[in-house]
Amino acid sequence: MDLLITGGLVIDGSGNPGFYGAVGVEGERVRVLRGDVSGVQAPRVLDASGKVVCPGFIDVHAHSGLMILTDPAHEAKVHQGVTTELVGVDGNSYAPFRSRDDLLRFVRLNSGLDGAPDLPGWWSSTSEYLEMFDGKVAVNIAYIVGNSPLRIDAVGWESGTATQPQKDRMRSLLREAMEEGAFGLSTGLDYPPGGYADTDELVDLASEAAAMGGIYHTHMRYRLGDRYLDPVHEAIEIGKRSGIPLHITHLFRRVTNPGGARRLLDLVDGARAGGLDVTFDCFPYPYGGTRILILFPDWAHEGGPDRLVEVLRSPEARARLRKEVAPRGRSWDEMWVTYFQQPHNMVYDGRSIAEVAEMMGKHPVDALCDLLLEEDLRVSYFSLVSDPATIADFVAHPLQMVGSDALLIGGHPPPMAYGCFPVILGEMVREERRLSLADALRKMTSFPAQRLGIRDRGVLRDGAFADIVVFDPDTINANATRQEPRQPSTGIEYVLVNGQLVMDRGRHTGALAGRALRRGRS
Ligand SMILES: [Zn+2]
Repeated sequence: MDLLITGGLVIDGSGNPGFYGAVGVEGERVRVLRGDVSGVQAPRVLDASGKVVCPGFIDVHAHSGLMILTDPAHEAKVHQGVTTELVGVDGNSYAPFRSRDDLLRFVRLNSGLDGAPDLPGWWSSTSEYLEMFDGKVAVNIAYIVGNSPLRIDAVGWESGTATQPQKDRMRSLLREAMEEGAFGLSTGLDYPPGGYADTDELVDLASEAAAMGGIYHTHMRYRLGDRYLDPVHEAIEIGKRSGIPLHITHLFRRVTNPGGARRLLDLVDGARAGGLDVTFDCFPYPYGGTRILILFPDWAHEGGPDRLVEVLRSPEARARLRKEVAPRGRSWDEMWVTYFQQPHNMVYDGRSIAEVAEMMGKHPVDALCDLLLEEDLRVSYFSLVSDPATIADFVAHPLQMVGSDALLIGGHPPPMAYGCFPVILGEMVREERRLSLADALRKMTSFPAQRLGIRDRGVLRDGAFADIVVFDPDTINANATRQEPRQPSTGIEYVLVNGQLVMDRGRHTGALAGRALRRGRS
């Protein structure tokens, strides 16, 4: 045995309540031990008395697909006990890109979402992208293919209906990416160019992913119809017509929804009762963040980021944008900007758009356009997106798993970046008793592993990979707030990834023990 964890309450991730026992690590794998372990020899023994020993957490909505390549220790998430992240979400994934120019354009377009760091190298295919992570980052990376890169390759940066040959091209690119290890298809239907796809195009692509055993992971088309239930209807239609397991990402009652949470959850429950394999994720905070460009209409994005810059510069286009660009959420007062590179703009970091516009003496839309131009499109924001009173109803729902949607950029990322998993364990489980500890851990471990088809992870059992978390259930706490989000969580004491200690007594060891996980392979 290379390492032995003794005296803890072992909660295996299945939803079962747990037992007192020891967990051994042999190489990369787990051995669960019961009874007297005093005769078991190991060079390192961790005393977990009073602690919980469980599988490492799996984040099914991560925005680390670029940032972790330049910040491989990934402190914010390791301090939360995360050992695997799903990247490529929201339709915005970074492979395959046959054209380097298109990849650079796409990084630039998404820079307010995923950052624009100086990357250690480049790639073209999905397999080349996945190799960027092997043994070079602290946590494991699972990848899902966004429809944006597929559409950029087959259709270009323009809107419009894809022709049959273009659809065939997207299907073959998707098939190739999944053969190289991707776990399915993602969409982000508020984000051009992937958002230009109509329902039929998405059914076509989802059918291909379904045939290969993948899932459909969707940021829904929130602008559709009543902007409340209709986006869910479209997702369900895609799931039913293509036969794919449907996963709705960040499902919650938005502050702008005309009705309550119950009707959203009833729709999902009803679809499942009707035979659709549907699940969802959400994060436990009322704030959400993304690129500021999401506020801008499709016509402004037509043709890609170079064209977009021309639009932002044009006085005629500005006049139109002032009429069409509206706050996402309730008002400019509840949207806060972040991620600036220009020294003179740093003063705006963390301030509301209303306040920034006043400081700049401009209309809020002109203020945003000018900041986007000065920052080469790299502006991010977060806002009050969901009804805080209903968050626990979503988190406690049996079909929910945890997806942080944590942006990792700027001085003021949303608090999920540092607190997503611990806030559930500390507040919703311990303080509010909205769900049991075993159930909360299931949502962070075995459920997402099963959903994605990740083998031998998400559970603590003999032979599983040793992705392990040891935490104190009495003290685990998220310290991040909206005003001061970059506060690491506390109470997580040890984190192992593939059998190596990445966190030891609450401190990051610097070990880069993660790797890309590939569909169908261990
Ligand atoms: Zn997201």
